[in-house]
Amino acid sequence: MYPVMLDVGDRPCLVVGGGGVALRKAQGLVEEGARVTVVAPDVVAPLATMAEEGRLQIERRRYEAGEAISYALVFAATDDRDINARVFSDADTAGVWANVADDPQLCSFHLPGRVRRGPLQIAIASAGEAPFAVRRLRQLFERFIGTEWAEWIAAASRFRDQVYELGVEPAEQEALFDRFFRSTVDPDGWRARVPTAAEEAEWLAAPVDHLDHRSGDDPKTAACSNGKSNRGFVSLVGAGPGCPGLLTTRGWQRLSDADAVVYDRLAAPALPCSLGPEVELHPVGKQAGIHPIPQEEINALLVRLARRGLRVVRLKGGDPYVFGRGGEEAEVLDAEGVAFEVIPGVTSGVAALAWAGIPVTHRREAVRLTLLTAHEAVKSDGPQVRWDLLAQDKHATIVGYMGVTALPEVARKLVDAGMDPATPAAMVEQGTTTAQRKVISTLAELPAAVSKAGLQPPALFAIGPTIRHSANLDWFSRLPLAGRRLVVPDAAEVVVRRLEAAGADVVPVPFPVTPAARVVMAALPITGCVVTSKAEVDWVHDERGGPGWAEDAPSWCVGEETAARARQRGWRRVHELSAGLDCSDLVAGIAKSPR
Ligand code: SAH
Repeated sequence: MYPVMLDVGDRPCLVVGGGGVALRKAQGLVEEGARVTVVAPDVVAPLATMAEEGRLQIERRRYEAGEAISYALVFAATDDRDINARVFSDADTAGVWANVADDPQLCSFHLPGRVRRGPLQIAIASAGEAPFAVRRLRQLFERFIGTEWAEWIAAASRFRDQVYELGVEPAEQEALFDRFFRSTVDPDGWRARVPTAAEEAEWLAAPVDHLDHRSGDDPKTAACSNGKSNRGFVSLVGAGPGCPGLLTTRGWQRLSDADAVVYDRLAAPALPCSLGPEVELHPVGKQAGIHPIPQEEINALLVRLARRGLRVVRLKGGDPYVFGRGGEEAEVLDAEGVAFEVIPGVTSGVAALAWAGIPVTHRREAVRLTLLTAHEAVKSDGPQVRWDLLAQDKHATIVGYMGVTALPEVARKLVDAGMDPATPAAMVEQGTTTAQRKVISTLAELPAAVSKAGLQPPALFAIGPTIRHSANLDWFSRLPLAGRRLVVPDAAEVVVRRLEAAGADVVPVPFPVTPAARVVMAALPITGCVVTSKAEVDWVHDERGGPGWAEDAPSWCVGEETAARARQRGWRRVHELSAGLDCSDLVAGIAKSPR
């Protein structure tokens, strides 16, 4: 079977039959501008209407031998098999393509299922062998592919024209097309967007930039650059609290368009695994106990990268401006004349509580939210938090970042200032990640409870009436795969989505494995992997045992051969799944096996 898209515009096409199936074929052809003749003694009403409107011709009679040969394309959809066979053999003998509805034997072509978004079409076919499956798949695609793709393809077509007008070298054209694609398509979520006019203008203004062939005296470059300098650009992007899905769409776009990424340890889990090996990765994470990279060096690195003309993403945990020193970095960039933007992130103080079943505000219970840094606030030489005022406010939530060490002192100050020692209080460690732990207690007892449970940074505390909801609203730990962190080939997209919906943190690793995927794997403990082919077993094998991998992490292998290869490689705890993988079985299977 050889797929093609036929231009039927203004070509004569024949539909034999006048029922519902014939109607659908006729409509499809008319929509594409074909000259359609319907031959049938009787026709359904919509066909008659179309004829009255002059959109097709009807000949109310039986099919006459030989008449198929004068058409470009022929469909037969009568309920008389002899007529259908006749139409097919007439057409086929004359070399005219013909299709008999629901009769694969009598078809020289099949119609694919199609999903259409403007000029963009996705065709799905099974060589006529499983039309039912094609129909269902088509429905799936209909759901996945949003209507925005129609505008996107139109924008792509306009962009192509503009690129051609520039008259640049083929390699530069390709670089521009790459740029358009990477900046407008989110391959994980299957979303697309239309670029703004300003974005397009920027891309078209500096085509050579992107290829890194910068040479100031190339007259073409000078002409194209509209006098703009080749300065780089820094995006200060909030990575969210740790769960990779909580990175914003815009943050994701900047990352996928970046030349260099400077990231903190807390931001590492949110790096897209799909970042290619050409993207520079600069870890500047601070980790308790390990000598941190001084802020000045980070600032200098950002300026240096931007001066090289790179698009830089500074990826920071949570929100860049919430206790993230994003303000200081922005000030330095501004002072150095480096263009920058800030893309907010989901701050951990809100997200970790949501994951722990705690609404940060709640009507009639908490009408104010205070985010504070416990660490800075207990230092004697800095600006001070008015614990005395906070202690008076019964209808408020206090969230303390960097709060593990300072917690006993904070609790004491609040109680001393008159806050009820029985006020509900919580601490959440590594909120929204698979390593999340929470302790729920009261203001007076939280410090002891936290130290007993051994909670470590990164963690934050919350104090206030809404914490009492924690047990009831804890939707996260009820999910069947909460706490599982699974490496899954990124091509198995349906599997990835199902596992995520079931609460797993999925690391969608591309093969060959990218450096970014290695950073993500190492960011938090991996509790298992799913592999679907022998080749994937080999790829994963080289990564197992690397940072992040739990010793003896179990694997779920799709198909006998995959499982055999895994065992051959010496993997233990290999679970074999049947090749016709049903995701609900997969979720149940993983949920019931021990971590
Ligand atoms: N800009 C970040 C905060 C950086 S300060 C944000 O908006 O979230 C670092 C502190 O944030 C940690 O000490 C901890 O108190 C808190 N934190 C960050 N991620 C966290 C998480 N996933 N769970 C709980 N606390 C977190």
